[in-house]
Amino acid sequence: MSRSLTRSRQLQLRAEKFLPGGVDSPVRAFRAVGGDPPFVTHAEGAYLFDADGNKYLDFFGSWGPMILGHAFPPVVESIQKAASRGASFGASTAAEADLAELVTRCFPSVEKLRFVSSGTEACMSAIRLARGFTGRNFVIKFEGCYHGHSDAMLVKAGSGVATLGIPGSAGVPAETAIHTLALPYNNLGAVREAFAVRPDEIACVIVEPVVGNAGTIAPAVEYLQGLRAITAEHGALFILDEVMTGFRLSLGGAQQVYGVTPDLTTLGKIIGGGLPCGAFGGRADVMEFLAPLGPVYQAGTLSGNPLAMAAGIATLSHLLKHEEEVYNGLESTTSRIAEGVAGVAREAGISLTTNRVGSMFTWFFTDRPVTDFASAATSDTAAFGRFHRAMLDAGVWLPPSQFEAAFVSTAHGEAEIGMVLEAARKSLSRDR
Ligand code: PLP
Repeated sequence: MSRSLTRSRQLQLRAEKFLPGGVDSPVRAFRAVGGDPPFVTHAEGAYLFDADGNKYLDFFGSWGPMILGHAFPPVVESIQKAASRGASFGASTAAEADLAELVTRCFPSVEKLRFVSSGTEACMSAIRLARGFTGRNFVIKFEGCYHGHSDAMLVKAGSGVATLGIPGSAGVPAETAIHTLALPYNNLGAVREAFAVRPDEIACVIVEPVVGNAGTIAPAVEYLQGLRAITAEHGALFILDEVMTGFRLSLGGAQQVYGVTPDLTTLGKIIGGGLPCGAFGGRADVMEFLAPLGPVYQAGTLSGNPLAMAAGIATLSHLLKHEEEVYNGLESTTSRIAEGVAGVAREAGISLTTNRVGSMFTWFFTDRPVTDFASAATSDTAAFGRFHRAMLDAGVWLPPSQFEAAFVSTAHGEAEIGMVLEAARKSLSRDR
């Protein structure tokens, strides 16, 4: 290995003294793929730089937010300007309605919204609201989907839960999870059955419209429309978790791409331009059930934080102004990368199933089509780990788990396409 990680190793040992596993979020620890996690010092455009002076082409983009690349000048300037006026006030600012208005322009189904500080909070709060609005307790989610780390959602979850191979989390009382029904994704029959058993007890169905947290999985034709119809028929709310897909698959997220209208939408990642921010919103009559207007309580010291609002406004304004160029560019770059490496694998005689939707993609180390969590789980995770380490050695940093989506930003161009194909050629030929 030509790359030195001396300083990163020292930093990891120091971090382990104070932080469990040396990290603040489990998958960052590289447990699933092996090798040492580089410690990042800074980033620019499509690249990350580590404490040993190594440079990496970034394909996880802070797990989704960095659609415009790192340190995008208009976003940086906006944050700097806001910071100079004060970091947080705990009182309303004009910027909250400014960003809210931009969100409603992108998402016509969102009539009103509330800002929170993470995707976890957005999903947890949307579910509480759905329960309060319907007066029902049960929630349907899907295996391999991740909706943050709130107790009720850590049931057959994707992301780090799937990566570490645990069915849920210790510390979640069975009584808390008893109202969570986890069904297979892309299977409308299972949903119909659940409603047949509990016709008046299901408050909502929450789904990642395109799954990212089991690796990338596209919805079957009419799947989302089917979920919309079944929920409407039974008086349950339909929640699209667009924390990952919102502003990424299109300005109006997956709901715009697939032509489906949810009751509530959860957002995160891109909405905060890289700062901690999430939101949930949708039908005004449902949102008005929230305190101070209604009986469902939800709050946050840092909600609507001025720095996060500034970063979000700069990001969404750029996306709105350059919509066609951004999304056409992402589509073309990502297809050349995802399908290009699929071709390299074919030539090397390696079984790879490539799933891509817009600028989200996953190379699954399996020869099966991947349409749900069970098929994703047929992947050879040891082979993925070897690939991950070899790509990192070649200067390409993929998400460190088979069960996570990779992301492309507008800073990825011709040079980066060439680089990833070259790295894949080296990495996959080594693995034969
Ligand atoms: N929902 C989805 C679809 C996600 O991908 C994530 C995070 O990856 C979350 C919710 C949780 O968001 P956060 O990590 O900001 O709490």
